[in-house]
Amino acid sequence: MTVNDLPLKDPDAVWPSLEELLAETHVVSIPLNTKFRGVRHREAAIFLGGNRPSEFSPFLEYHVPEAATWLAAALNYGYGPAVEQTRPTVPVNATVPAIQPEEIPELITRYGNPDQLHTVKVKVAERGENLATDIARVRTVRDLLPHAKVRIDANEGYSVAAALELLTEIANVELEYAEQPVAGIEDLARLREQLRARGIDTLIAADEAVRKSADPLRVAQLGAADLIVVKAQPLGGIRRARAIITEAGLPAVISSALDTGVGINMGAALAASLPELPFACGLATGALYVDDILTTASAESLYAVPGRLAPTEIAVDPEKLRQYAAAPEREQFWRERIRACFSQLLATGEN
Ligand SMILES: [Mg+2]
Repeated sequence: MTVNDLPLKDPDAVWPSLEELLAETHVVSIPLNTKFRGVRHREAAIFLGGNRPSEFSPFLEYHVPEAATWLAAALNYGYGPAVEQTRPTVPVNATVPAIQPEEIPELITRYGNPDQLHTVKVKVAERGENLATDIARVRTVRDLLPHAKVRIDANEGYSVAAALELLTEIANVELEYAEQPVAGIEDLARLREQLRARGIDTLIAADEAVRKSADPLRVAQLGAADLIVVKAQPLGGIRRARAIITEAGLPAVISSALDTGVGINMGAALAASLPELPFACGLATGALYVDDILTTASAESLYAVPGRLAPTEIAVDPEKLRQYAAAPEREQFWRERIRACFSQLLATGEN
């Protein structure tokens, strides 16, 4: 089976017409605490016309065919049936971006009580950074939080040689896993093989190789990773993500693409629906937002348990939608994008 055998439209969802969708679309731009992919605001289109709020927020540089899959996810979730849950809450990891090691203690306080930080993801391999800073960042987190699981994410930023050097250097840190240290499925497989040849058993996670590949299932077929990172939006939604996890036969880490609370709730619903959830989810990125668009009651319910998320039927605060409404030209950009992606889905027979 390839991923293209999985339809983008959930057969149980009743998608609206483009006009109906656009009539209930709100484009927001929410300030972030930190720079993410070069920006300090996160833009998202929020759909309010369905059974529940849903979010369409592909990264700005993504073109139509890729972004259309994200739109399918938002339509399937917003206009589809409720997702059955096998657990009430899901564990989530904290994230340390590629900041200087001395900035880390302050950042960690934003996640609340450090004793409740069970899992931390450290970003490494940022452009313009060097291996020594990456190693120092990982060691700083390890020392500050000796009881926590520490994972790293390189976002494809290393060469095989650099990844090998780093993972050898920090082999004694006992990483939970190393996420997408190098680009592409073949290089992941090569790196993993060379690590094992050196007797280093650090687990390798595939993220971009799953999200961007024409066929995410090749990751499992080539033995390129020990686990896969799965995001509901880029894979076309909850049902499709679940099918890919089942087919891959590897443990999955459910994560988000720095979504607003609306997208986070969808990710949490996916995680809560899985039969097994061996790793904490990358869904605590709300901490990187200055504010969110959920009602206070929804946010309190979603974030009720420290270090965990409780997916729920959320509501969006109309006042926040007004406060964070995107500038007219950005709103126009997103409406055009929705139009183009919707046409793409129609053209491929997904409606
Ligand atoms: Mg990642």
